[in-house]
Amino acid sequence: MKPWLRNTLLGVGGVVLVVIVALVGLVGWVISSMPSSQGARVEIREGLVGVDTGGSYAWIVQTEGGAVLVDAGMDPEATALKAELAAMGLSPDDVHTVLLTHAHGDHTAGLGQFPHATLVHGPNEAGLLYGTDVVLGPAPALMAGMMSEPVLPAEVVEASDGQILDLDGEQVTVVATPGHTLGSATYHWGDVIFVGDAVFNAGDDVMVSPSFLNSDDAAAQRSARRLGPLDAEWMADGHAGRTQGVDPMLDALAAGS
Ligand SMILES: [Zn+2]
Repeated sequence: MKPWLRNTLLGVGGVVLVVIVALVGLVGWVISSMPSSQGARVEIREGLVGVDTGGSYAWIVQTEGGAVLVDAGMDPEATALKAELAAMGLSPDDVHTVLLTHAHGDHTAGLGQFPHATLVHGPNEAGLLYGTDVVLGPAPALMAGMMSEPVLPAEVVEASDGQILDLDGEQVTVVATPGHTLGSATYHWGDVIFVGDAVFNAGDDVMVSPSFLNSDDAAAQRSARRLGPLDAEWMADGHAGRTQGVDPMLDALAAGS
């Protein structure tokens, strides 16, 4: 073998090795930062519960006419979600609406268990939801290859930025927060914001989703600043859980401090 060819091959091999090591590290980080066991729950108040579906949280909000989910989790059987609903005296058919923060598989896999719900998603997310857009961001792209396509309910509705939804007489505002995915949405419901993976709890702080998880990192940074003006006591996110007293944390994030 010619020396230049051997050196080139060694060089390419080295780069491939570094990429593999980096990807293994990345997946390890993602897995270690996920909730550990399906079925663990975090309660904001009675009738407002986050359920660990095996690595991501889906949220149940009990309403006058049944229940609303925010995301459907990563378990295609939605076992833990259905158990929590049963504990509330509800069945999957009582879930009349699913508010989707974004269409990554760890938030959509359980949708097939709620066929009678109306699925609401944010602007520019339909392509990802229906699988016509490619999954962007290294870690989500890696994960997408390991997850099956979600089974969608018959009724799917795209909400617009600023739209106010009426859910059993309660007002929920849709806030477009693109970046983590191109059509990520936040739902502002009373004193709670459901942010999906746009931002996460980081102890005493709120952090923007890391760049390797994002479809458009600059947009993710801009979207995080959109959360500053929202008036909320609680934040419910997709992987870290609940955050109380979130208002000043979001203000600080918006101010870039
Ligand atoms: Zn995600």
